[in-house]
Amino acid sequence: MKICFATSECIPFMKAGGLADVSGTLPKYISQAGYEVRIFVPLYGPVDRTEHGLVRDDSLTDLHVQVGERNEPFSVWRSQLPGAGVEVLFVQSSRYFDRPYLYSNDPDEDERFILFQKAVLTTLCESGWIPDVLHSNDWSTALLPAFLKQSTGVTAALVKTASVLSIHNIGYQGTFNQATIGKAGLSYTLAQATQPFEYFGGFSFLKAGICFADVVATVSPTYAREIRKPEFGRGLEGVIRARGDRIRGILNGIDSSLWNPGLDPLIPFPFDSNTLEKKARNKTALLRRFALPADIDVPLIGIISRFTEQKGFHLLEPILGPLLRDGAFRLVVLGSGDLHLQDMFKRAEHDFPDFVSTIFGYDEALAHLIEAGSDLFLMPSIYEPCGLNQMYSLKYGTIPIVRHTGGLADTVRDIDDEPETGIGFVFDHADSGELKSAIRRAVKMFAEKNRWRAMQRRAMMEDFSWHVSAKAYLDLYRAAAKAARSAST
Ligand code: ADP
Repeated sequence: MKICFATSECIPFMKAGGLADVSGTLPKYISQAGYEVRIFVPLYGPVDRTEHGLVRDDSLTDLHVQVGERNEPFSVWRSQLPGAGVEVLFVQSSRYFDRPYLYSNDPDEDERFILFQKAVLTTLCESGWIPDVLHSNDWSTALLPAFLKQSTGVTAALVKTASVLSIHNIGYQGTFNQATIGKAGLSYTLAQATQPFEYFGGFSFLKAGICFADVVATVSPTYAREIRKPEFGRGLEGVIRARGDRIRGILNGIDSSLWNPGLDPLIPFPFDSNTLEKKARNKTALLRRFALPADIDVPLIGIISRFTEQKGFHLLEPILGPLLRDGAFRLVVLGSGDLHLQDMFKRAEHDFPDFVSTIFGYDEALAHLIEAGSDLFLMPSIYEPCGLNQMYSLKYGTIPIVRHTGGLADTVRDIDDEPETGIGFVFDHADSGELKSAIRRAVKMFAEKNRWRAMQRRAMMEDFSWHVSAKAYLDLYRAAAKAARSAST
């Protein structure tokens, strides 16, 4: 079976969030299972072509696709996922991707990803490598299922190709006005109320994908159920429900070659569940890095995140000061985004300089040190499709404090609810009071050394390997191929 994996971000080439981790990892496992996989990504300006060994494919240059009125040129560059032998094809377009960012609010944001997706289809046809399954990810590649089903000409060679759409975050929907339908070359006859190309009077890439994909998946079983409800579906719950039970929830795995405390080159003192005393040395290094007192007996809570409303840090606003006044824990914060949230953390740092320290920005190596050196990790998300950081935390013996939602609910068991098997602290509602008591419970239990150690060891034993998820995706690909076959007969 041949699988084409289309995505707008992929480690190690470029990353905005968890989608990049999935894109750079799942295809490796699909390939190891004996399937032929090719990944397509846009060639954004910041991608370092030399560092990542990109070469221009001379047989795939000066290709064109139609974007609105324009016949836009693009070319294809190639590289591989490091150590995996999976081919990565980069779509180069000076007009659309020579910009210093991945996503934007630019007026032609729709055109950028229309070009990308049409370029994927054209490249497949031109190169003669015709996949059995085309796997789209999130809004930025969600038009591919619609193109496969609705276009003629360029996709004629792809009539038998099945489509899978993974929703990594339904909060990002690629919503534009209806002029985008014309720019994409799709049919306005499907743009009446409730039809696939209509979305609250506009047009949504993601809705189109959900309507046309042979199979739709999302990244955790709980999130698959949640997005059927208005508070999580964000306007798409009706479209999701209309797909019936065909939306699968497959938990993401984590890449154990990158996130393994025993072999992590980005932390000063690698450790495993038998050498947990070394974790304390990482804690000392982390406290030093954040210029906090080197006092390892006070529990240390880590945060690594994008600061958006989704991540729930606004719940801290009324409780952070009162909690810190107790002097019962320290907090290190790495992240960036919403300035209001940054200000909140900055104020806490100013008011409690011995207890809070912040670094605003994106720093992969520091993220590893925070996972290794913290005692607790905070993810109070309002919604969390899967979440990776809580899984990284568990692997590093760093106990997560999470809200019971999406992938957090599927991966973290509360220690008070399940004393024998618990591996974290879970609170139910998006409520500051509940978050406060979860933090207090965690900080209190930290003093029970034996119980804490046992919980850490259990956490580190959890199996989040991609093998399990990759197998589920292979089943999905087979189901999609079957659905596409029966639809075309
Ligand atoms: P999301 O995709 O919603 O941002 P996930 O938990 O699924 O959330 O994935 C986030 C990924 O991005 C993790 O690999 C996390 O370590 C990383 N990350 C987020 N913010 C930062 C940051 N400021 N510095 C380093 N890594 C970060």
